[in-house]
Amino acid sequence: MTIFVTGGAGFIGSNFLHQAVNLFSEKIVCVDNLSYASDYENIKNLPIEFCNLNIVDEYHGDYIFQKYKPKTIFHFAAETHVDNSIKDCSKFISTNINGTTNLLRLSVKYDVEMFHHISTDEVYGALELDEPAFTENSPYNPQNPYAASKAASDHFVMSYHNTYGLPVMITNCSNNYGPRQHREKLIPKTINNILEGKKIPIYSQGENIRDWIYVEDHCAGILGISYAGDVGQKYNIGGECEMTNLELVKMIIKLMNASEDLIEFVDDRPGHDLRYAIDNAKIYKTISFQPEFNIEDGLKKTIDWYEKNRD
Ligand code: NAD
Repeated sequence: MTIFVTGGAGFIGSNFLHQAVNLFSEKIVCVDNLSYASDYENIKNLPIEFCNLNIVDEYHGDYIFQKYKPKTIFHFAAETHVDNSIKDCSKFISTNINGTTNLLRLSVKYDVEMFHHISTDEVYGALELDEPAFTENSPYNPQNPYAASKAASDHFVMSYHNTYGLPVMITNCSNNYGPRQHREKLIPKTINNILEGKKIPIYSQGENIRDWIYVEDHCAGILGISYAGDVGQKYNIGGECEMTNLELVKMIIKLMNASEDLIEFVDDRPGHDLRYAIDNAKIYKTISFQPEFNIEDGLKKTIDWYEKNRD
């Protein structure tokens, strides 16, 4: 019996593996096709097995399920960059929807005991400034192709629970930051551009609000809920840290002793959601979850990592 961590060579999956290797006695298998967003360096020193698989691949997927007999699957693998999904959503449909349903089908076939699906708060759509934060009962209302593909995958996960009795859980988390994130995303891009003395592009006037969570807190939430959560349930995981993009970038600039002159406002992303916010009441009630890192400490650790890993 093994534990599968799909997408373990990416940002959150690799941080999850760094925590999980100290907790599980079972063999952990990282299942990843090493897409552009991954970095094998993230996990190369960990005591895990690596399996290079495109999760869409039914034939080889069947082979690795038969070979490793996973008991639990933590499913992180996905196409994740909203801007890419706006340019062309075909890979998002393939990986996030077809890849997930392929894993679900194989999980039923090979009697997987827990399919933990890692999802996002973006499935709920956008909030106005005065609206209450998303709860697990908020209706799905995805606003961009990435969010739509993740929403579809959430629905398939729940449908496999209801139809085939597959034991599942879903966690919907807010915006993560921390080490090992691909440089296309806002925080790594800001840090790297400062390190290279380049302009920092910010959409529109930077008024969009996100709820930021340090990646280690997210992973702790997933691990906690995987022990103490209920089968067939959804849990939100939030950072309790709403900031506008402009406030966030200014904080990074200050922590790195750089100049705000580097900021460059650029044309907005089409369909840019104004605000996301997560209500942590359910996960707090279930496992007393609260984020440990405040944004300044988390950003300092993140900046430090990118300074040391410039290549
Ligand atoms: P990432 O883009 O950094 O990593 C994704 C990983 O999945 C990569 O290692 C990639 O190689 C792998 N992958 C992609 N397509 C694959 C395929 N077809 N077959 C096998 N592997 C494939 O993503 P991330 O930011 O670490 O996000 C991980 C998960 O967490 C995603 O499901 C995402 O929707 C979710 N999530 C992310 C955030 C965030 O802020 N980054 C917030 C909430 C939820």
